[in-house]
Amino acid sequence: MEHKQPTYIGPEQIIDKRKAYFYPCTQHFYQKPPQLVRGSMQYVFDEQGKRYTDFFAGVSVVACGHCNEEITRESVRQLQTLQHTTTIYLTQPMVDLAERLAEVLPGDLRRTFFCNSGSEANEGALLLARMYTGKSDFISMEGGLHGRTNLTMSVTGIPMWQTDPYLYPGVTFIPRPFDHKELHAQLSENELTPAARRSLEALQAVLDAKGDKIAAMIVEPIQGNGGIIVPPKGYYREVKKLLDAHGVLLIMDEVQTGFGRTGQMFGCEHFGIVPDIITMAKALGGGVPIAAFASTDTIAAALSKPSASTFGGNPVSAVTALAVLDYIERERLVQRAAERGGALKSALLELQQRYPAHVSDVRGEGLMLGMEILADNPTRGAALVDQILEQMKDNGILIGKNGLNRNVLAFQPPLIITEDDVQSMVNILDQVLAQIGESNV
Ligand code: PLP
Repeated sequence: MEHKQPTYIGPEQIIDKRKAYFYPCTQHFYQKPPQLVRGSMQYVFDEQGKRYTDFFAGVSVVACGHCNEEITRESVRQLQTLQHTTTIYLTQPMVDLAERLAEVLPGDLRRTFFCNSGSEANEGALLLARMYTGKSDFISMEGGLHGRTNLTMSVTGIPMWQTDPYLYPGVTFIPRPFDHKELHAQLSENELTPAARRSLEALQAVLDAKGDKIAAMIVEPIQGNGGIIVPPKGYYREVKKLLDAHGVLLIMDEVQTGFGRTGQMFGCEHFGIVPDIITMAKALGGGVPIAAFASTDTIAAALSKPSASTFGGNPVSAVTALAVLDYIERERLVQRAAERGGALKSALLELQQRYPAHVSDVRGEGLMLGMEILADNPTRGAALVDQILEQMKDNGILIGKNGLNRNVLAFQPPLIITEDDVQSMVNILDQVLAQIGESNV
């Protein structure tokens, strides 16, 4: 049977169709968004053939690049062999992946439950914590983002992502271990900033008041959407001690930070701790939907009633994830993220020196970096960020934006990004910041 080719439509018609058929809440980044038709490693191409270097890796997803041939070959082979089964039958890819994850996950986190999105992984982790502890409530951190389901939205600490008027009320938020006034404090190994100490005091107070009701605390080791917030090295060790003393589990949401993004395989490794439950998504499938939560034998046993996901860990996603993990290991992408990220951070810090009137801060680890624009006037900062994004895009570079006020430029490219890509992006950003400076004096 002949396959009917869709009629080609351009960007304006796509926008019209989105307006006609999508939910009105659907947003795009740009005033003139590119229509992407093809991807190849660190590059994507629009319908005119224009090339963009993707410094946001989709949304921090394609760590090994777009359409990486070594990975897609495996996906296609599996798609043509057996595209769907579930845990009610026996197939090899899912168990191979679970075994492989047990090797790369920190500590004794060796049991994996597969699902399809970051939200679903976090929802499952919160449920598991309730089942294990027999307690109902949660602690979360201001500025954290954990998903779109009712419970994951309830633990999300960014008001713009909290749409549901009926959020679960048993969530207490503690402040972030972050304060603009304390940026780049020189700390010794175990030293904490005043903001980190205040955050721990708040945690202690919540645990003292209602620790007997709290099942878990959920956090991103390094906040992504909240504006690339890196706690002081010793912070999570103290958090873990306090939680352990009250029988409260620590869930680390590694949906963004997992699989090399921060220059360690998992973000928690920067802080020398192992959480009780870890959640994963984004980079794991290299663009194919797969997510998971993992825990120890003892905690996993608490999920006692039958539970399974129709699509979770399906064979196509599982073989793709295995190919992603092979590629990350063989190409030393974790180390490369640390090295390339270090070089990019130095270059961004130099730009901060040159444009101090606009660039307030550069922060992050590995290839998860943020540049905050106008911290003391974030509304104007957000408008400038949009202007910068648009001009970067016109010059062939896609970057992201985040932060509570959306005034932080986000640099989270595929981990395969080259030195030359970094250099050309920095040169273009330099020119764009210079123009912005001239037109906003
Ligand atoms: N957790 C974190 C840290 C995220 O960044 C995101 C999405 O950006 C999610 C959870 C939700 O993941 P998903 O969109 O796959 O449901």
